[in-house]
Amino acid sequence: MGIKTHPRPDYAALARRHKNDSEFSFFEASQANQKAIQSHILEDKGPGEQLAIKLSDATHAHASGFLEQVGRKLGTACEKGCSYCCHQPATAFPFEALRIAGALKATRTKEQVEALQDKMRARVRDLKDSSVRKNMNNKTACPLLSDENQCSVYENRPLTCRMAHSFSVQRCRQSFEKDRAKVQIPMSLQLLTGISGIIEAAFEGLPKKRLDGNLYELCSSVLAALAHPEAAAQWAQGDPRVFKDCIKDDT
Ligand code: SF4
Repeated sequence: MGIKTHPRPDYAALARRHKNDSEFSFFEASQANQKAIQSHILEDKGPGEQLAIKLSDATHAHASGFLEQVGRKLGTACEKGCSYCCHQPATAFPFEALRIAGALKATRTKEQVEALQDKMRARVRDLKDSSVRKNMNNKTACPLLSDENQCSVYENRPLTCRMAHSFSVQRCRQSFEKDRAKVQIPMSLQLLTGISGIIEAAFEGLPKKRLDGNLYELCSSVLAALAHPEAAAQWAQGDPRVFKDCIKDDT
């Protein structure tokens, strides 16, 4: 059984398009992040069931370091409790969905996990046409958002969530209230391309290790990761069935 890689956003093209921009050296930042993570993915050895945790922690630590270093200088408008960007479909790599599932099992009671699974199933049912792109205007809150409007899995939030930022709360509000496609959010290309280098490294590196490196809609992939106690080991063995019914990222 082979891993089928489905179409995905062309983050490398985004980085290339801006490589001559004089404002920032974000092409270099993207390339450096990509190189660091790719060598980590390709060199990683060890117990299979730990692979998702190791990859998730390594990519997220790298992204956090980059955000800390670059984001602080940029001064975005993002603040604790603001969650407009958490009211649209989110996506995750299999290793991130497995990491979140492991953290949920370790930190919540069985009843709490079951209640969350119910919410996530409702969210998946709500995503009509099983397409992330066609559901960008679905404004339901991510089930992982807490009652205080904060990410309840913040330490393990996916890379695509880490890319989300804005220089204008007003635009975020408009995007929430109107058609998202018609409101442009002012963002930093340096941040976008820097994190996209890490995402690109996973896209390229995981298939080389015969692992499913596709991006999937977050709730469907966390549900798949929670569904089977052996999911992490199966994914690490290259079994393409673990996430086969998940909603694919077609943005
Ligand atoms: S995982 Fe966290 S950051 Fe990402 S959409 Fe859900 S609540 Fe927001």
